[in-house]
Amino acid sequence: MMPLSVLEAVRDAMIDFDGKGYSILELNHRSAHFDEIRRELKERIRSLMSVPEEYEILFCPGGGRQQFSMIPLNLLTESGRGGYVVTGKWSQLAYEECARITKAALLWKGDGSTLPTATIEVPVDVDYVYYCDNETVDGTEFRDLPPLDRSDALVVADMSSNFMSRPVDVSRYGVLWAGVQKNFGASGLSVLIVRKNLIRNKAKPVPLMLDWMKYAQTDSVPNSVPVLQFYVALLMARWVESMGGLEAMDRAAKAKSALLYGAIDANPGMYVNEIPSSNRSRMNVVFRLRDESLTEKFVREAEDEGMINLAGHRSKGGIRVSLYNAMPIDAVEKLVQFMKSFSNRYAV
Ligand code: PMP
Repeated sequence: MMPLSVLEAVRDAMIDFDGKGYSILELNHRSAHFDEIRRELKERIRSLMSVPEEYEILFCPGGGRQQFSMIPLNLLTESGRGGYVVTGKWSQLAYEECARITKAALLWKGDGSTLPTATIEVPVDVDYVYYCDNETVDGTEFRDLPPLDRSDALVVADMSSNFMSRPVDVSRYGVLWAGVQKNFGASGLSVLIVRKNLIRNKAKPVPLMLDWMKYAQTDSVPNSVPVLQFYVALLMARWVESMGGLEAMDRAAKAKSALLYGAIDANPGMYVNEIPSSNRSRMNVVFRLRDESLTEKFVREAEDEGMINLAGHRSKGGIRVSLYNAMPIDAVEKLVQFMKSFSNRYAV
């Protein structure tokens, strides 16, 4: 979900962008105007997330999955391996891609609802430790970094589905990145916050468009980039700031998710979420109906009341409620009322 004010600004920019007499779709990616969009976008991300000076902010097209390939291509040394903590679908796919193109070590794997609590051993030939901060499909979210036995391990985090939803101490990461389409814009662009010394020349050449160095050298304009997506991200950054920044986003996310988990837990005869409360995501609340034959009815009846996209990910089924930053708490209250009435009507 996107804020209405952002959608309205995009609508206006389609015809007359910032009073310039041309559309955002007509804006040249080599223009000073686009340079200014990127400058302000980077500045706002730096300020919202308190990004230290030693970190570069890069933007890459190709969506989230492209980083599954770019991360090993940009970080692995000749003899090293990528280390993966697999907690759900998206970290599993990142691990598989690293194993497919080079060498990967599986450091920890859970069952989809668990997160590591005991210290994870990181072998010395592991160049980085990758994990997914919020598993969008499985509905789990880390409260802190995974516990590692090497305090100097280089940590890479996929924050695609909880980016800009809470304060983050960037200095604890080598790289943190996010596909912008959940909390920060429209699909087709990723934002990366990378420690500058990790952007380096490689012993073996990497395809140019997959090389972070190329993005750093061109201020994220290595070719004709998706200009509109940058602008939508800028509008989102301004919106997050106007709403009070990341602490306000976190407070809202906690309030919304607590309301919904409360409604699930209050009715265990009808709704089931078996994720331990300390692992539950503030962004993606997944649950199933105890009587799974009612799932379709739940989705359809909710749709009739204007609540759409509630079916779980196609790989998992059940229900998934995404509570990204722009989702108002009133909408969650409406869903909770619906869940009560659904249960009253169909409980046996
Ligand atoms: N990581 C996470 C956490 C995701 O939720 C997604 C997609 N929803 C991806 C990676 C992949 O993103 P994309 O579809 O842009 O490739």
